[in-house]
Amino acid sequence: MAKLALTGGSPVRTKIFPQSNTIGEEEKNAVMKVLNSGNLSQYVGSWNPDFSGGPMVKEFEKKWAEALEVEFCMAVNSNTSGLYSSIGACDIGPGDEVIVSPYTMTAGAIAPLIYGAVPVFADIDEDTFCLDPKSIEANINERTKAILLVHICGHPSEMDVIMAIAKEHNLKVIEDCAQSPMSVYKGKFVGGIGDVGVFSLNYHKHIHTGEGGMIVTNDPVLAEKIQLIRNHGEAVVEGKKTKDIWNTFGFNYRMPEIEAAIGIEQLKKLPDLIERRIENANFLSEIIGKLPGITPPVVKDGCKHVYYQQTFKFNKEITGIHRNTFVDALKAELPTMVLRESTPIIGSGFAPPLYLQPIYQQRLHKCSFNCPRYEGAVSYERGLCPVTERMFFEEVFTHEFMRPSFSKTDLEDVVNAYHKVYENMNELKEYEMKKSVTV
Ligand SMILES: *Cc1c(COP(=O)(O)O)cnc(C)c1O
Repeated sequence: MAKLALTGGSPVRTKIFPQSNTIGEEEKNAVMKVLNSGNLSQYVGSWNPDFSGGPMVKEFEKKWAEALEVEFCMAVNSNTSGLYSSIGACDIGPGDEVIVSPYTMTAGAIAPLIYGAVPVFADIDEDTFCLDPKSIEANINERTKAILLVHICGHPSEMDVIMAIAKEHNLKVIEDCAQSPMSVYKGKFVGGIGDVGVFSLNYHKHIHTGEGGMIVTNDPVLAEKIQLIRNHGEAVVEGKKTKDIWNTFGFNYRMPEIEAAIGIEQLKKLPDLIERRIENANFLSEIIGKLPGITPPVVKDGCKHVYYQQTFKFNKEITGIHRNTFVDALKAELPTMVLRESTPIIGSGFAPPLYLQPIYQQRLHKCSFNCPRYEGAVSYERGLCPVTERMFFEEVFTHEFMRPSFSKTDLEDVVNAYHKVYENMNELKEYEMKKSVTV
């Protein structure tokens, strides 16, 4: 039996994994066309035919709306600015609360703070890691104005139940789809199910334009407000004769023409890239999921998982070791990095509960938490979301070994690493015990 790399043996593989470079001739040609035109961005921040951008931006929005089966689409320069404009467009402000997820990237919880509102963290579902509808409901009060949910890691949230709750309490629903383009819930793409959906086109996502975001909605009023917020709305409303000018003060969230041109080509590749992720994930889940104490990602009935990450749960009662020890052993067997990327593609816990960050612990945003209009008493105590904390500190680990660039040989190496660690479980237990004694 080969000795674990963690305790001095040789690893299963040292050769770095291939990068998922999706940029090809198509993107290069598209960029050259824009460069040759001399029009790198055509926006004008007043009521003018170019208020909504140039030809590439408009074409990209049209194609995105068609692909996602929604009525309106607005290109922006990031998912983050998309979430901020969505909160603004939903007329959320001081004194209001927005229910958000603690188990995600940070922007979703900051979005309400930007507008002087307070983020309230609900707990997650222990199978999908998306917001748990029961916890959403338990956090609703007269101050609640919206639910900002995330289809995390590529699996959709339980939209039927959440939309019914939102309807009953007259709440807006904003879907953060950064990790879930073309993920499907009961026959519908996510993003167009709630009031607004926001996608990311940053470098780490399924497809990218370097930086970028796409906002979708079927609501013409929200679409207009988002356009105003994207592009200096306060200077536009008079000329445009907009009646409802509440909080249409604008930012510059505009996507340039080059990024839009790249996005048009990337979108064509998206369905195939997703299918390859699913195929690789299924192959790995099938084998890794059979190991005792490991639960592979759950895919709920009627849902399509698009695998931004592949999430596993690790049971220390069954295996006799802590998840972190297991992941350390795996990391020692395989290269954790991908060519030209700076973050490891395997890790314990996924995302630390957001409310434990200093900004919440120290309530560093005076306009929101100390606002005279705010009559609530939001809590950010440790223990607030027990499922999230258990998933982060004890059970979940994620990897991206299912990326489209991974060949069958790459996947075999991954499987061999898991098997090798399992064969050496007793040695790993000893290692863990010795480590806890010396610490
Ligand atoms: C990547 C990501 C974001 C931020 O996207 P940007 O385009 O970088 O602003 C927001 N939410 C989630 C869930 C993400 O994964």
